[in-house]
Amino acid sequence: MYGMPPDQDAQISQAADALRRASSIAVLTGAGISAESGIPTFRDALTGLWENFRAEQLATPEAFLADPKLVWEWYAWRRQRVALARPNPGHLALTALANACSARGAGFTLITQNVDGLHQAAGSTDVIELHGNICRVKCFERQHVIEQFDDATGAVPSCPLCGSLLRPDVVWFGESLPEAALAHAMRAARDAEVFISVGTSTLVEPAASLPFLAVRSGAVVIEVNAGTTPLTAAARFSFRGQAGMLLPQLVEEC
Ligand code: NAD
Repeated sequence: MYGMPPDQDAQISQAADALRRASSIAVLTGAGISAESGIPTFRDALTGLWENFRAEQLATPEAFLADPKLVWEWYAWRRQRVALARPNPGHLALTALANACSARGAGFTLITQNVDGLHQAAGSTDVIELHGNICRVKCFERQHVIEQFDDATGAVPSCPLCGSLLRPDVVWFGESLPEAALAHAMRAARDAEVFISVGTSTLVEPAASLPFLAVRSGAVVIEVNAGTTPLTAAARFSFRGQAGMLLPQLVEEC
């Protein structure tokens, strides 16, 4: 599907070499790594019942206040897709990379913008979730995290503790990221000898700044993406193609 430049194999060997030698590795993933698991990215047009909407119209506190049922139903639909999805070779390669780092005493930090839990399903642990998780909910007013809720009725449930409406425990456009998670991610980006950025458009701040922080701190930055992004020119290696094909190749060689 994607044309592989002739020298890409040699470049992958060089990037794998940097990974093998690194005493600390950080990885940032975005929606693109889950595309091959059947979860659409935000750049893909919304489909089916939702084809007349854009994510920016639904993933905001204002949208929820204006029409809680509409926004709840969109997330219920997305949760159904996530429940059916399985991790792909890209997610599994990152778990293998973490295990390889642990075996040789190197540091490894996995940071994701994804809300689908597929890294954990692939066996990754200690994942920094910058944008929350779609399978958890919290109440709109007081941020109580609620473990059990009814997804079957279609109605927006209320918080059993304070009565306000429940919403997904994700970071919406215009909201702040969880402070501790962001601080941890920034430390990891600053300390990494090698930083991999996978399947992210590098447009959504503040996550988009993490690979540039790594560049400024002297890391070898490797980008894996189906297309070019604002990071491409600054990365030491930039590989065009599917994460589910390129990550296993990178990790097998290192
Ligand atoms: P994005 O939708 O802005 O960009 C996706 C990127 O992935 C693009 O650069 C595209 O070229 C690349 N891509 C697509 N398919 C790929 C593949 N098979 N292999 C490699 N790269 C591929 O996603 P983003 O940068 O993560 O930012 C958008 C926001 O959307 C994030 O905040 C995230 O929380 C949210 N989101 C999450 C999910 C999910 O959890 N799976 C899905 C949609 C959106």
